[in-house]
Amino acid sequence: MANTYKIDQMNCIGCHSCMAVCPAMAIAESLGGKCKIDKDNCMGCGTCASICPVSAIEPDL
Ligand code: SF4
Ligand code: SF4
Repeated sequence: MANTYKIDQMNCIGCHSCMAVCPAMAIAESLGGKCKIDKDNCMGCGTCASICPVSAIEPDL
């Protein structure tokens, strides 16, 4: 079981849907308008990964 998740910057299309659903507010916009996850705040719930339209979010193993 992963503790945190990560966003593949190559696949992210910058829709920001993940930011809206993260209960820990662990996702912020990164350079280029894409999103990134703050590992210090992510609690590994997986909600962001379940709603990402391009499956750019996965467990950070
Ligand atoms: S939901 Fe997916 S495509 Fe949209 S900003 Fe987040 S990681 Fe990127
Ligand atoms: S796994 Fe949960 S806590 Fe971590 S960034 Fe995604 S929605 Fe936020």
